[in-house]
Amino acid sequence: MSPKVLDENVQSVRSMLDIQHKETVMMPDTSEDIRLPVACPSCGSHLYRVNQVRNPTDQVHCASCKRYLCDYHEAVDMLEKVPKDESEALIEEVVNRRHH
Ligand SMILES: [Zn+2]
Repeated sequence: MSPKVLDENVQSVRSMLDIQHKETVMMPDTSEDIRLPVACPSCGSHLYRVNQVRNPTDQVHCASCKRYLCDYHEAVDMLEKVPKDESEALIEEVVNRRHH
């Protein structure tokens, strides 16, 4: 291998790294915020960040401190369970008020 070929290899590796770096930096923000009933164990925030693609195996991270909370499908489970409980609690409250 002549020094020139080696040089070219180094160049191509460098440009590959450059492209990768650019893609990371230039990549549009495809994440969005969701609100979950559970508070972040680290900072207490209810706002979490999830990929817009919303694959079930995507990781859900705290929007504030970036702590990993759970997978997206687990977050969906939470969202499906809690609003029901909340509306039931509201119904109970209204029903109880009528009784008093
Ligand atoms: Zn947090």
